[in-house]
Amino acid sequence: MDTAAIDPVAGLSFSRALATHSLELRRARTEILQLNVGKLCDLTCVHCHVNAGPKRKEVITRQTVDRILNWLTETNIPTVDITGGAPEMAPDFRYLVEELRSIRQVETVIDRCNLTILLEPGYEWLAEFLAAQRVKIVASLPCYQPTNVNAQRGDGVFDCSIRALQRLNRLGYARQPDLTLDLVYNPNGDFLPPDQTELEADYKRELKQNLGIDFNRLYTIANMPIGRFAAWLRHNGRLDAYMDLLMKSFNPASISGLMCRNTLSVGWRGEVYDCDFNQQLGMQWRKQKPLFVWDLDPGQLEGQSILMGNHCFGCTAGAGSSCGGALVAAGG
Ligand code: SF4
Ligand code: SF4
Repeated sequence: MDTAAIDPVAGLSFSRALATHSLELRRARTEILQLNVGKLCDLTCVHCHVNAGPKRKEVITRQTVDRILNWLTETNIPTVDITGGAPEMAPDFRYLVEELRSIRQVETVIDRCNLTILLEPGYEWLAEFLAAQRVKIVASLPCYQPTNVNAQRGDGVFDCSIRALQRLNRLGYARQPDLTLDLVYNPNGDFLPPDQTELEADYKRELKQNLGIDFNRLYTIANMPIGRFAAWLRHNGRLDAYMDLLMKSFNPASISGLMCRNTLSVGWRGEVYDCDFNQQLGMQWRKQKPLFVWDLDPGQLEGQSILMGNHCFGCTAGAGSSCGGALVAAGG
């Protein structure tokens, strides 16, 4: 796309940028409940917007899982997207997945998996469990070559990720129609992702030819200027330049597909946000008091306004960015 054509919004706040284009951001029908079960993770990636790591203590309890499941049964939300941290490290992960599988309207359960957890001692059961429960896996692999992956995620992570992908393939992932394995690319620095379709073709060619790996789709996701990535930008004196890049690349065509329109983000204590990024910024929904998912009337969500900030430019830059990848086709 031609970013020069949208320069007029550079320097404006996100809400002003929307107004400049006569756009409004409101919730549509809720199709996805994205549950962040906590900050526990076996890795400490440079770009992590959650500040997750092995020493974090925040994790969902059985009681909170049950309260969320009870609320969910009263809705018609068809997809539950489990994220973290490494969500599989939550003590009640297995219970959560099994219970979700028994809820009539929940058609798709997604596990946002960092791949390395599949090979950690104590998690030998995990890959088979996910396959048996027909859980869709969305896995991070920021490059098809070792150098970039290890720089961003830690030494040895590429080899470990490759072994995990090969294991998932052997279990039928990306080889059977009901076992979906999607990959996520995010840039290894302060630049926007390349074209998703072209990069997916590169990934497919390189991973298949060199390592025999199959996957379904590649999502390109921009790095958000929050959490550990914002700290890294600030430390290197590059935060302002990255914000400038995001603002100058504002793409009004991305607004209709933003994930905050159809996703409800729920935290490990059951609290509610418009998206996982707002969750990490503490932008919890309030109505006189902070709101939890069990306070909500599922029939009243559509049409509600969305809490915005300048970090939202991370979702609207270039081809746009969401948990499902780019929002606008090349040239849009
Ligand atoms: S980016 Fe993902 S895998 Fe890396 S530390 Fe954060 S939650 Fe863990
Ligand atoms: S950061 Fe969240 S609220 Fe802002 S545009 Fe992105 S998804 Fe929507």
